[in-house]
Amino acid sequence: MIRAAIFPNKYIQGRNAIREIANFIEPIGESAVLLVDRNVRSFIEPAIMDSAQTKGINIQSIEFGGECTWDEVNRIADVARSVDAQMIIGAGGGKTLDTAKAAAIKSDRRMIVLPTTASTDAPTSALSVIYTAQGEFQEYFFLPRNPDVVLVDTQIVANAPARFLSAGMGDALATWFEADTASRAGAKNMAGGFTTSTGLTLARLCFDTLIEYGPSALKAAEQHAITPALERVVEANTLLSGLGFESGGLAAAHSIHNGLTELKQTHDYLHGEKVAFGTLTQLILEDRSQDEIMTVLAFMTAVSLPACFEGIGLKNVSRDDLRRAAEAATAEGETIHNLPFEVSVDDVVDAMIAADSLGRTIPGACGWQEREEELEKEPAPAM
Ligand SMILES: [Zn+2]
Repeated sequence: MIRAAIFPNKYIQGRNAIREIANFIEPIGESAVLLVDRNVRSFIEPAIMDSAQTKGINIQSIEFGGECTWDEVNRIADVARSVDAQMIIGAGGGKTLDTAKAAAIKSDRRMIVLPTTASTDAPTSALSVIYTAQGEFQEYFFLPRNPDVVLVDTQIVANAPARFLSAGMGDALATWFEADTASRAGAKNMAGGFTTSTGLTLARLCFDTLIEYGPSALKAAEQHAITPALERVVEANTLLSGLGFESGGLAAAHSIHNGLTELKQTHDYLHGEKVAFGTLTQLILEDRSQDEIMTVLAFMTAVSLPACFEGIGLKNVSRDDLRRAAEAATAEGETIHNLPFEVSVDDVVDAMIAADSLGRTIPGACGWQEREEELEKEPAPAM
């Protein structure tokens, strides 16, 4: 049996870490292309430029076009070649990072990744998701290597809306349950081998960190405050979950997420929110113990993750729509087939209905929407 695990080369995290970026990229080269999101450019670009200047690193900055298409990837790769940059730095949301990663591979440059939220576990991975210009999923581009440097500035993450951290916890919540299931079923992971105990242990540490520190980290994030609990959860959402999913394996939660994206009503909800609902559904499908399910449900409620249809835009959803989602979730090649038993479309539909019905028994289990409504009702604090 061949076991395999993959990792990014270097992971950096901390308050104002971006000001130190030159120290970490100097060994790679003296010229870089920076691909940056429009909405963060005004503060990311000067911080990187200032740091780069201290080490004499030349940075060519380009604004991200908005979609991770092959055209955009090739545009960035061409710039990197034309200015003879040794590395491509991606700074911003998931699509910007995926474009920078793919362009670094296409142009044979080194890969630096700066996520500005802790909302998914994609930054450390050797994977880019390619879309059409219309924003439809096109294909997974599996990269031959992971990023050279992943740098997370906790101040930037803490300044982002707290809902992103919550969604990141939803993506990270799936990691242990998917890795555990995939490994017990003898499924291969993203590294092309069977799960190592390293992958599995990191996935478990991810889950334990969320349960212990998730609620207080979210409270801190709501106030844009950096605490040790927030640092732990940012690490869990980004590094532990990233390593855990790639070297552990995926199962039903992400397939159910993929199925849910078939329904337009879910499009305003974040990746991690749908993955969290998919996790609860997976636990029900797997007939996990009541204790385990209630632990997860209590956690989801505490960090405003949706445990009901309403929380992912599916209030009054029809069974036909649920079938459409379940058909996509059980399509050939989906990781739901890493479950150690056969799963039918009806099994998935019924498990989703049961997850929603269980969630609705708990006050506050409908996620961020409900929480925002409550916050609006609260009187403004006296100044
Ligand atoms: Zn995910």
